[in-house]
Amino acid sequence: MSNADVAPPAPVIPRGATTQVADGVHVIPDHRIPLVPNVGIVEGPDGVLVVDTAMGPANGERVLAELRELTEQPRVLVTLTHFHPEHGFGAQVLKRAGALVYNRAQAQELADKGEEYVAMFRGFGPAVAEQLEGVELVRPDVVYDGRATIDLGGGTVAELTEQGPAHTRGDQVIFLPRQRVLFAGDLVENRLLPIVPDGDVCASRWIEVLEGLERLAPEIVVPGHGEPAGTELIAEARDYLVEVRRRVGELRADGLPDDALTAALERELAGRYAGWGSHEWIAPAIGAFLGELEG
Ligand SMILES: [Zn+2]
Repeated sequence: MSNADVAPPAPVIPRGATTQVADGVHVIPDHRIPLVPNVGIVEGPDGVLVVDTAMGPANGERVLAELRELTEQPRVLVTLTHFHPEHGFGAQVLKRAGALVYNRAQAQELADKGEEYVAMFRGFGPAVAEQLEGVELVRPDVVYDGRATIDLGGGTVAELTEQGPAHTRGDQVIFLPRQRVLFAGDLVENRLLPIVPDGDVCASRWIEVLEGLERLAPEIVVPGHGEPAGTELIAEARDYLVEVRRRVGELRADGLPDDALTAALERELAGRYAGWGSHEWIAPAIGAFLGELEG
């Protein structure tokens, strides 16, 4: 039996696994389960910030239960790294606990593409469709442009900044200057190749965004998926995208047509990144850089 014959675990965020990664900073780990994100809970004496909700109302309830086991703090703010279903489609539950804070591009992208993504994800099989039962796409309570600062008290401050377009139009990171923790969403993963979900990806701009995140010099990077680690996660994502772009340029200069170029480079990168997951996103990444050459 090959790995491909084994159904992946249901996309359900774990209970009772929440870990503290820095002072007042907790992560509900994804345990590398497909379509489960890392969820952050940042707590200060004057408030708590939840970063991402996981997918669907049942997962939202699980996140809310983890939050309430940590703190009864009444001031709750909730934000998303980006609009994708596994990151934000439990928001209807968290909205009961507090205010949803999104950047403008993210709010607009959710309005434009949310229903389409619900339909697409339902097509991923019954285990995913089950988590999307009863999903409602809810609007944010607060929309900001560019940057927002949330003071949680006791020196714990969360800086929310718009980063997109890169992985999505509305990417956002959350940086905690005192703890030097960065919640990077799907701009950065751990041993998973960058996800290139649709034509709104801006691949070269994504490289520039990663360079900017490296300059923040975080000590702990919480990726969208995979274990939290150090700043090397950002460099690894950047190196991969730079390499895809470089090889696309070289093979194009050799005169290879798109199909042959994509097949050859996909094989090459799959070999070099054999220890990493999500190889299905290699060809879309190549396509994104090819698209830039056309552009
Ligand atoms: Zn994503």
